[in-house]
Amino acid sequence: MAFDPDISPQTSGHPVRAALQAPSQERPRRGMSVSVSQVLVLNASYEPLNITTWKRAMVMVLMGKAEGLEHDRRRQLRPDLHQPTVIRLRQFVRVPYRQMPLNRRNVFQRDNHLCQYCGSGSDPLSIDHVVPRSRGGPDVWENVTTACLACNVRKGNRTPREAGMPLRQEPRRPLSTLSFEARRRMGNGLNREWEKYLIGA
Ligand SMILES: [Zn+2]
Repeated sequence: MAFDPDISPQTSGHPVRAALQAPSQERPRRGMSVSVSQVLVLNASYEPLNITTWKRAMVMVLMGKAEGLEHDRRRQLRPDLHQPTVIRLRQFVRVPYRQMPLNRRNVFQRDNHLCQYCGSGSDPLSIDHVVPRSRGGPDVWENVTTACLACNVRKGNRTPREAGMPLRQEPRRPLSTLSFEARRRMGNGLNREWEKYLIGA
């Protein structure tokens, strides 16, 4: 049986490989794990920095460290103050670049929990190496994609071209952890007003 090694349970000592093969306890919990009152924090340069709770954001605004740019009109904290949904720091801070870890959960998230060969979102999903590992395909964002079990088995030890199974989306490295998380929230119908601050993020 032409089972792709990508979906077999044994793991090697390779950390990324182990992360890609780890059993998937994290079911996609669309809309369940996200709190409604999160605030997008922008640097003084308007560059998105992180996501925080509305309470922390309020403290920063009240201390004069940040200004509110977008507010939730339904949540009034004081007669003159609505709960912010986007704030901007008054002083520029330098932030080191953080790389998004390559693991199953993040690959599925990047691919919207859809098989990139047939478009199916039905379980079980697996990680497919576009160029199979047995043929030297590396464990990198650009070479891993989400595949349903049926497509993974059908593709077997072939490239998409050889298998006649074109990818719906070329796999890419996500731009940043922040834009990843922010887009997940917007995908859940939350914080649509963040969109204009995330262009290019
Ligand atoms: Zn499929």
